[in-house]
Amino acid sequence: MRFKAIAIDGPAGAGKSTVAKLLSKKIGFTYIDSGALFRAITLKVLKLGIDINDINSIIKHAENSKIDFINNSIYLDGIDVSKDIRDDIINKNVSYIAMIPEIRKIIVNIQRKIAKNKNVVVDGRDIGTTVFPDAFIKFYLTASVDERARRRYNQYSDKTKYSIEDIKNQIIHRDYIDSNRESSPLKQADDAILIDTTGKNIDEVVEEMLYNISMKGGI
Ligand code: C5P
Repeated sequence: MRFKAIAIDGPAGAGKSTVAKLLSKKIGFTYIDSGALFRAITLKVLKLGIDINDINSIIKHAENSKIDFINNSIYLDGIDVSKDIRDDIINKNVSYIAMIPEIRKIIVNIQRKIAKNKNVVVDGRDIGTTVFPDAFIKFYLTASVDERARRRYNQYSDKTKYSIEDIKNQIIHRDYIDSNRESSPLKQADDAILIDTTGKNIDEVVEEMLYNISMKGGI
């Protein structure tokens, strides 16, 4: 039996992970949050105090890391880091770690290993273009940058820390680095279905995906 991968790519804050989680639940696929893998390595680098420019040391530590998904939580060297990887300091540094081709290779291999014996829904930036170019179906989610900033802002419990404008600038900066790096940049695959989620709720987006899946003959 050949296992299926569903690829969901797009810029920061487009709603990929929320939608991917719900879709995977509805169709009984395993969800892979590829961004969490980059975030876990970034957390390790920062915790160890490694200079963000010391590429060799970053690669060495990434190679010696054990990263696992267990029940949608992410474990780094045996410790659940699901909360820590969402810190602001990670948001600010992760795209620099994700530029390193060797790090991308390690993370591609982790994803392909998981998908070897499972049906998966994977969200990220390079899933349809690089990780699973033969995915059963590919989606590219976008939304206006104002809406993406608003959504992120609403997720913060402490609304005094950043303004919507700050968050908007952070998103623009991260998207710029992700779209302009040399190694598998953020890009819509030629055969990906574009969904603009501006003004749409989660259920509407998932319905649109399920409709497109059914048009392909279903899973
Ligand atoms: O999706 P999330 O915001 O958690 O991703 C964090 C960062 O990880 C992205 O901004 C990007 O730099 C990197 N990333 C990537 N390729 C992926 C997933 C995430 O480069 N497939």
